[in-house]
Amino acid sequence: MQVVVKKSFFDVFQSYRNLGFEEKLSQVSRDDVERALAKDYLSDSDLIALLSPLAKEYLPFMLKKSYFLTRKYFGNVIFIYAPLYVSDHCVNACLYCGFSVFNKFKRRTLNYDEVRKEAEILSGRGIKHVLLLTGESKLVGVEYICNVVKILKEYFDEISIEIYPMTEGDYARVIESGAEGLTVYQEVYDPVIYDRLHVFGPKRDYLFRLETPDRGARAGFREINIGALLGLAPVRKEVFFTLKHAEYIYENYPHVEVAVSFPRIRPIHGKNSFSFDIYDVSDEDILQFVAVARLFLNRVGINISTRETKEFRDNIMLLGPTRMSAGSSTYVGGYSEGKTDGQFDIADSRSVDEFVEAVRSKGLCPTFVNWVKEL
Ligand code: SF4
Repeated sequence: MQVVVKKSFFDVFQSYRNLGFEEKLSQVSRDDVERALAKDYLSDSDLIALLSPLAKEYLPFMLKKSYFLTRKYFGNVIFIYAPLYVSDHCVNACLYCGFSVFNKFKRRTLNYDEVRKEAEILSGRGIKHVLLLTGESKLVGVEYICNVVKILKEYFDEISIEIYPMTEGDYARVIESGAEGLTVYQEVYDPVIYDRLHVFGPKRDYLFRLETPDRGARAGFREINIGALLGLAPVRKEVFFTLKHAEYIYENYPHVEVAVSFPRIRPIHGKNSFSFDIYDVSDEDILQFVAVARLFLNRVGINISTRETKEFRDNIMLLGPTRMSAGSSTYVGGYSEGKTDGQFDIADSRSVDEFVEAVRSKGLCPTFVNWVKEL
């Protein structure tokens, strides 16, 4: 397929340089919010109005609208997947991550037999869509990733990757090996804060990361999931750019199914504090962001992972999300060793079976498959 891209997302991002987001947010009136809520298609001003703290007064109405739109476009279905961490070697120093090169601990990259063992356990639990995760290291180069994807294809119907940003050519090789989806979080859209939090390693290249979804889409990924790690920068502005980025992918790459995540920063395993300021993100904020995402982009996938607590996930399940992880471990080799907390601490530790029951108890249908290439 010949994909013609008019511009890069960086150009779109730059066009908002003089937006004055915080000022606009503080000027939002009830009329602005009510006008936005009455519309089917939202402008940038509507989006800002609905993301404002003032719009929280209208949260029950927003969530109701989000509920109906989600059921209309996705049915009564929650798609379940699980992450699979195969390496915690990383040359980057991201101040919010347990795998940072500056953190001293015994690191590990699974060999192919160990990958098979993890895959067997996970597929035995009913998982059919796996998200493959690594840090960034020459130990997990494109050759290794392709071989791991080929192994995982023996066990799962769909493979997505959440690894370091690659070139378009390397992504094409990973797709050729059997991967369908790409997850890449910008982490922080604000370039100044991005620079402050990524103190060492190739991830310091803000632009290369920002344009990763472009390269992934051009290489042919069928599904792209983006997001910002909430808590690292002023959250409403970060959500605004996440949604503008998702809209940009829709407009420029019609073959791509787009999803967004709203991950909140979680404690690094063994540490309860960070060396930088954290911006508060309440449960109510996440409910608002999920509803706004649904109202702004009716067909966007919305992902809520096990970073969130059992109670919160059960509460939000009907109101906008379309995909949720279950039975997760963020520890390399964690499924074989029965360990869950690695890159960050898991907040919902229910097993896959327990989560399936929770989905059913909400009157929703849990599904493990939304894509099968070969029967
Ligand atoms: S966030 Fe990713 S790139 Fe950064 S230290 Fe952690 S694993 Fe490495």
